[in-house]
Amino acid sequence: MEMLDITKIRTDYPILDRKIYGRPLVYLDNTATSQTPDIVVNSIVNGYTSTKANVHRGVHTLSMEATELQESARRKVREFINAPSAEEIIFTRGTTEAINLVAASYGGAFLKDGDEIILSVMEHHSNIVPWQLLQRSTDIKIRVIPILPDGSLDMDAYRKLLNERTRIVSICHASNVLGTVNPVKEIITEAHAREIPVLIDGAQAAPHIKIDVQDIDADFYAFSAHKMYGPAGVGVLYGKRTLLEKMPPYQGGGEMIESVSFEKTTFAELPYKFEAGTPDFIGIAALHKAIDYMENIGIEAIARHEHELLEYTSRRMAEEIPDLRIYGTAPGKCAIISFLVNGEHHYDMGMLLDKLGIAVRTGHHCAQPLMQHLGVEGVVRASFAVYNTREECDLFIDALKRVAQMLR
Ligand code: PMP
Repeated sequence: MEMLDITKIRTDYPILDRKIYGRPLVYLDNTATSQTPDIVVNSIVNGYTSTKANVHRGVHTLSMEATELQESARRKVREFINAPSAEEIIFTRGTTEAINLVAASYGGAFLKDGDEIILSVMEHHSNIVPWQLLQRSTDIKIRVIPILPDGSLDMDAYRKLLNERTRIVSICHASNVLGTVNPVKEIITEAHAREIPVLIDGAQAAPHIKIDVQDIDADFYAFSAHKMYGPAGVGVLYGKRTLLEKMPPYQGGGEMIESVSFEKTTFAELPYKFEAGTPDFIGIAALHKAIDYMENIGIEAIARHEHELLEYTSRRMAEEIPDLRIYGTAPGKCAIISFLVNGEHHYDMGMLLDKLGIAVRTGHHCAQPLMQHLGVEGVVRASFAVYNTREECDLFIDALKRVAQMLR
């Protein structure tokens, strides 16, 4: 098994040389957003300095080049998640917009009073609130799959929730707090046995797990570029053609029409029907570079490295930090450690860690229902990416010991 040259990988990220309060930055907030390698940043700079023109409208050279960059990114994303066709890849602003699109368009058109949808207690707000917005117009019921003490999904409870009123299941591939990787293939198989479509929120899976939407047979799959070494403001919704074709547009505007008159407007073919307005075509081209970057290193190699750091750090924390509580210990979890020490406030810990150069996330992590379930207001979260090192884990643990002592 080949070891990654992390020292070399780190040279792709000038930001990692920053000092925070005079100390080396230890960036462990990768679940919120990962850093961006030079190759992706350069793609954005080139997009603005060399090929900027609006896509799809022009016959001039720049416009055709910009269009080709966007469409080749679409083909790349298709390959990345093994979607059957590029027309099933819709560019959005991120996971949040992708889920809102499905809730508004699919939910708005096909869910009726009395219908039920199934979510899980570990969902991010972006996979809860769009469905609640739908409840303003339709009397649908949200049913919630609970979790087991280790943070894994209660599959027995899930099976019991599925019934003849269930119209959609929407669930994360991996939890941004617990790190739990859900058995999405099994979840989808169970739903499909009742002809219920499934949306997978892949925001936390795309950076670490090889995705194959055909293998898991997802009906919809959403993810964000900024969590996978790509730019902010770009995301992807994959949807099965049969579903996308019968769904009404989500937003109206340019790009998404075939013809417009005040009497009657007809809509463009997929995927443009769902891409109203000028997209972030420069960010989309940069996403292409981010996928190339991940594939050059190897997604399995990235995940292996992150898991080593996860295991090393979790073990040292358990051995060396008294009164530590880790939230989420499901087997095979992603490289995310959510924790509290001695009941100290997450915010105090995060602020003091920052003074020692350590960037971790604190708070409810946009998962307040999960926090309520765990009986906490918030947690501290350390999460890893390909450029993190064992030395950084040591700095983190040393800092954590100091902070825990200061607060005691
Ligand atoms: N789902 C999960 C599981 C997430 O972790 C996040 C981001 N924290 C989102 C959805 C939302 O992603 P975005 O803000 O990029 O739309």
